[in-house]
Amino acid sequence: MSEAHTEQQAPEGAASADSGMLDELTGSGSGADWLARYTGSLLGVFGIPQRVLVRGSGCYVWDADGQQYLDLLGGIAVNVLGHAHPFVTSAVAGQLATLGHISNFFTSPTQVALAEKLIELAQAPSGSRVFFTNSGTEALEAAVKLARRNSTPERHRILALDGAFHGRTMGALALTSKEAYRKPFEPLPAGVEHVAFDDVDALTAAMDETVAALVIEPIQGEAGVRPLSPEYLRAARELTRRYGALLILDEVQSGIARTGRWFAHQWVDGVVPDAMTLAKGLGGGVPVGALVTFGEEVSALISAGQHGTTFGGNPLATAAGLATLHVLETSGALQNAIDVGGYLREQLAALDGVVAVRGAGLLIGVDLDGDHAAAAVQAALTAGFIINATGPATIRLAPPLILTHEQAASFLDALPDILAAARTQQEAPA
Ligand SMILES: *Cc1c(COP(=O)(O)O)cnc(C)c1O
Repeated sequence: MSEAHTEQQAPEGAASADSGMLDELTGSGSGADWLARYTGSLLGVFGIPQRVLVRGSGCYVWDADGQQYLDLLGGIAVNVLGHAHPFVTSAVAGQLATLGHISNFFTSPTQVALAEKLIELAQAPSGSRVFFTNSGTEALEAAVKLARRNSTPERHRILALDGAFHGRTMGALALTSKEAYRKPFEPLPAGVEHVAFDDVDALTAAMDETVAALVIEPIQGEAGVRPLSPEYLRAARELTRRYGALLILDEVQSGIARTGRWFAHQWVDGVVPDAMTLAKGLGGGVPVGALVTFGEEVSALISAGQHGTTFGGNPLATAAGLATLHVLETSGALQNAIDVGGYLREQLAALDGVVAVRGAGLLIGVDLDGDHAAAAVQAALTAGFIINATGPATIRLAPPLILTHEQAASFLDALPDILAAARTQQEAPA
């Protein structure tokens, strides 16, 4: 065997990294020190971060000043198994130490196995296929290109819904409805129209042979956790089939066991999409997204050379996905999402100052009796809880699916004081 093909030893003097070594690379400081460095070095698109987090374990995280938080947002529906899950951690570390990245000129066992697993969990028909991405918005870009491949000069419209959030890159942004996100970046890719949310008549009126695809979230996440009715999902399936349009379900937030089913649309009998986008929870914290195409005909719309990615589906990311789905499947996480989610929603609905509770499983939107959601997020942080505001009067919970009843109860116990503090702060003159 030639020299080039023998196993390489680590170069002399190469140290193995541990967290102590990373501390040396980053330097250290208080939360305030880090935020000063942050504002001097990071593009200001996110505003000023609420805290500087240094460590996580299970459903808890710790900040640079040593305060502990119960994480009820889970990195926005990403950390389905909480933080530093031992199985995912060792699968990812083991894969990285074996083979981390190879380009899509090659494939690897974890890539193939994760694609097979997603097709199985989606109960997708034979001929179904998977395209891996690094994010939700890239999964939507792939979906838009799929829709374009279902287009002709006569069939050129793509329908999405009022309130939709599908991502921030240009194709996904064209599907997103919020003016504040769209306006600064126009012109966006043409052909997208937004129709009224959960309104079967409006959809019926908009549908005909000129529609290439209908793209919908079974539960709108960023809009404040707004579920589509089962009747609407069934009508969407029926109408798209009748007119030859693709039904594309964006399950980036609602999928991966979050609602207690693998994918939220599986709660509604008879609704099988033509394509589905995934990301957020799929890698348990490692960036990985996917487009699943259902059946031979849809899968054949995109052919070799028409789309691609450098990172998408690499061994590291797909090992994370495979490990995450395995733990979800074998740990009772889906039932836990139903149980703890049901308990949370029931208790939240009975609280003073809460006017509506929406969602399924552990994707929960809570409308407050005033515009103090942002103040509630701050008050919750002070009390040791991470939640998020999707609008002036709406908070969202998307915690790890391993959240226990006791952890949920600790939040419910603290919430009346959090809401009272938030209301007072909101009413105080500036
Ligand atoms: C978060 C989200 C996206 C975008 O995902 P990114 O990974 O942030 O690009 C798309 N669709 C839905 C429904 C989402 O919730």
